[in-house]
Amino acid sequence: MPELPEVQTIVNELNKKLKNKAIKSVFVNAPKMVQIGPDVVSNVRKVKNGQVKKFSDLLIGKKILSVKRRAKLLIFDLSPTSPQPSHKASAGNARLRRTSGSLSILAHLKMTGQFIFEDKKLRQKTGGKYRLINSSNAPLVQLPSKHTHVIFKFTDGSTLYFNDVRKFGYLKLVRDNEIDQVRELSEYGPEPLNKEFIWGRFFTAVKKRPKGKIKQVLMDPKVVAGIGNIYSDEILFHAKVRPDRKVSSIKNQELRGIYQNIQKVLKQAIKAKGSSVGDFIRTDGSWGQMGKFHFVYGRAGEKCKVCGTVIQSMKIGGRTGSFCPKCQK
Ligand SMILES: [Zn+2]
Repeated sequence: MPELPEVQTIVNELNKKLKNKAIKSVFVNAPKMVQIGPDVVSNVRKVKNGQVKKFSDLLIGKKILSVKRRAKLLIFDLSPTSPQPSHKASAGNARLRRTSGSLSILAHLKMTGQFIFEDKKLRQKTGGKYRLINSSNAPLVQLPSKHTHVIFKFTDGSTLYFNDVRKFGYLKLVRDNEIDQVRELSEYGPEPLNKEFIWGRFFTAVKKRPKGKIKQVLMDPKVVAGIGNIYSDEILFHAKVRPDRKVSSIKNQELRGIYQNIQKVLKQAIKAKGSSVGDFIRTDGSWGQMGKFHFVYGRAGEKCKVCGTVIQSMKIGGRTGSFCPKCQK
């Protein structure tokens, strides 16, 4: 499942590529993957009559102003429904101004969601074929594939494909004045790379769960947003703390080390464009390079890069945690 660095990689790439592109058409192949309004998207999704047509009608003609991220959610801000040109405002200001009628698309990739952005240049380079999972044995797949569920075409001829093998991902169309009602947005804890992520707040949030195992506590989005199985393992390796340690046994100095490594590891992972494990691929179909820098995640049975001891794994709350029994205490 993509975590903060993978989603940030997609956001950075799409923000550059989609800025000011106008939507020409929207094709939805799996109606349950799109929704209008702020309600929680349940796993048993009912599709309302006419929803797909309404979804595409609302989007056609809109421009994408920016692509942002909150936790693992992507937010595409769209141009207002009826732009009202102002003589006073410069063109730049007019673009930034949001009205209560403006729409945003909230997109969640869940387990296996992918965005591929294809323009003429990329199409010529790839022939429209991509290796959609991170394995050199994986076949080349022509887009749109059977796992492409939503296709956005832009007026300049470029295309955005939303693929999802498991179909847990979604695109939710929300008006600006409904954003406060989006439950997943209000439930997320602090963004680890923002100024709001201060040591005192992290310390208090973790210490509230004295019986919790530290790996599980780090993966709780209310404590810190965007950390999952990969980066909780890596952060704990760098902080030299075993993933199954109870919070009550962790010294303040160790917790301080975890806090510092959250930012260090996530920043490094964004720089490497994420970890291509499973289905994560970049928006041009290439893979993130962070996997090369993993010390423990996905390395059980291999030797520790620091001390040579064999990396072990264990089940923690239904997830597999990997660690070095010598480097981590
Ligand atoms: Zn080691």
